[in-house]
Amino acid sequence: MQLPSLTAPVVGGDEIEHALRELRAQAHHVPRPLPLLFRLRPGVDLRTVTFDAYPLDPDEPNLHCIALIPFLPQAQATGTLGIEIVSPDRQIVRQLRVALDGVISYRPVRFDFPPIPDSARRGFELRVFARDASEPIHVLAYHPLLPFLPRRVLAPRVLCSFDFARDVAPSAAAAVSDDARARTVDGGAAPLFAVDFPSGTDVEVASGVLSVRGWAYSKRHGPGRLVLELSGPSGGASRRIPVAHRYCRFDVSQVIPSIPAVNYAGFEVSVDRFDLPRQAEATLMFEALDERHRLAAFQVRAAHTDPVEAPELVRCDCCGGDDTDAWGNKDGLTVVQCRVCGLAFTSPRPDFGRIGQRYSQEYFLNEYLPSMRADHEAHRARWNYYLDQVERFKALNPRLFEVGTGAGYLLKEAVRRGWTASGIDVNPAAATYARDTLGLEVTCHNIDSADLALPEGAFGAVLLESTLEHFLSPRRVIAASARALQPGGGLFIWTIANDGDVVMREGMAMMLVGPSEHLYYFSATALCRLCEDNGLRVERMWRDDSGDGIGVVASKRLDRVEG
Ligand SMILES: [Zn+2]
Repeated sequence: MQLPSLTAPVVGGDEIEHALRELRAQAHHVPRPLPLLFRLRPGVDLRTVTFDAYPLDPDEPNLHCIALIPFLPQAQATGTLGIEIVSPDRQIVRQLRVALDGVISYRPVRFDFPPIPDSARRGFELRVFARDASEPIHVLAYHPLLPFLPRRVLAPRVLCSFDFARDVAPSAAAAVSDDARARTVDGGAAPLFAVDFPSGTDVEVASGVLSVRGWAYSKRHGPGRLVLELSGPSGGASRRIPVAHRYCRFDVSQVIPSIPAVNYAGFEVSVDRFDLPRQAEATLMFEALDERHRLAAFQVRAAHTDPVEAPELVRCDCCGGDDTDAWGNKDGLTVVQCRVCGLAFTSPRPDFGRIGQRYSQEYFLNEYLPSMRADHEAHRARWNYYLDQVERFKALNPRLFEVGTGAGYLLKEAVRRGWTASGIDVNPAAATYARDTLGLEVTCHNIDSADLALPEGAFGAVLLESTLEHFLSPRRVIAASARALQPGGGLFIWTIANDGDVVMREGMAMMLVGPSEHLYYFSATALCRLCEDNGLRVERMWRDDSGDGIGVVASKRLDRVEG
C-alpha cells in the first residue's frame, strides 16, 4: 500500500500550541470524541488489532481530509497508524495508514483521500487504529474538553492511546489465559481467516458467565457470520450460539481496492454458566454460504453447583406498573420499557451473584482502575464539573456523601474543594483503595446494608454519579439519599438516558447497554418522578451532547412553616 507522505515541518515555539494551530488551520474536520462509547476494552485478545471509533458528523459534503496529532513517547517506533471512515450503512469507504517511523511527535498527520460526496449524511464513523506498533502511541485531538461542556471550552487532550507493549492481565470471566497472537487458521501463505483468540486453552467457568471476546478478519468479501458451537464430550448434540459482531460485520459486499482486509469484526458472546454443558468442546466457526471455517477451539468446564432460581420478573421501580414493551436483548438478558413512565430496565433480572461479579476485586483492579488512570485529567475535569453543580449547597452544610465512590477520585476532588466528604462503595477493593490509598472516609456498604446508619438530614449534598443504573431499586437509593440530606440540601445524579442519539441509533449494540451490569436506563419523566416522590424538587435536568448521559440536581424541600 502507498503510504501518504508527511509534510508541514514544525517551526519553533510551543510544540503543542503550534500543532494545534496548524491542525485547526489544516483539518477539514476534527472528530468529536465520546470517550466512554465504543471503546474496545484492552485485553490480550485485542492486542494486535485495535481501534477507537468516534461519531463523525462533518455536516458538509466532500469530506477529504482528517488530521490527527500523534505523540510517541519513544523515538524510532515501528508499525502503522491509520484511520478508517465507515459510512452510515456500515461500509468501510476509506482506509489510510502511515508508517510510524516517519511520524514526528506533535506534528499533525494529514490523511488526504478522495472526497466522500455524501459525507453530510449523519452516521459516519471515524476509526483510529494502530498495527504492530513497537512503542505506545497517543493521538491528541483539539476538541471540546468534554461532550457536555460548552463547545467553546477547548483543550488538547489524548483522543486515544495504543500500547501494544503493555502487559494486560486477563480477566477471570474472559476465556483468555495465554499470550495469544493472531493465528492463521486456514489458507497458508495467503490467510483466508485469522482470529486473535487463544486456541487449545482450558476454560473453567466457576461463576458468572463465559465471555468470549476477540477479533477476526478475512481477505474475502461477502456475507458470513460467526457462531460459537458447544458440544458435549461424547460428541452429543451441539448448541449453536450466534456471536454478536460488536464493532463491524462480516457482510462487506463491495470490493474496495485500497482495503486489504475488508471483512473484519470485533466479536463478543456471553453464555451463562448454567446454560453451558458441565464439560464441552467450544468451537468458534465462521460460516459463509458455501463454506465453514474453524477459527478457534477450547475446552470449557462449567460449575453448576448453585441452585437455579426461576428468573424474577420485575415491576417498574418508578411507577410500580407492569405494562411494558420489549426494548431488546443482549447477553442473554431482556430490557423492557415501562409504557407509563418510560423507565427501561432489565427484566427478568439476573441472579445477584451474576450482578455481583462486576464488583469483584479483579474487575476493580483490571478494568476500572486502568480506565480511570488512562485519562485522568479528562476525568478530573468531569468530576469538577459535577462538583460545580452542587457547590452552592456547601454554604448550607459542607458535609457531602457519595453513594458508589469507586476508587474515590470524585470524593478526593470534593475534599480538595473544601467539602467534608465521605461515602460508601459495594466493592471491597474499591472501598479499601479509597481509604488506604487516597485517605478517604469510605466504607464498604450497600445503600441497603442493615448496619449502615446514615444520619438523617446530615448532609449538604449527596452524589449519585454513574451509580443509579447499577442498583436493584433506584427508588430506594433516592429515598435513602433524600433522608440523609438536610432540608435545602442538594442531590446530584448523573446516569444513562434511554433516548439519547447513540442509543437510538445503535439500540442494544450501544456500549453502555449491558443489562447484567446496568439494570436501568432512565427517561426524564422517571427521573423527575423518582425525585419528586421523595421530597425533592428538581431544579435542573440536562444532557450531554449526544443526549445519552442525563444529569439532575434536586434539592430537598424545606418543611412547611406551621400556622
Ligand atoms: Zn413506570
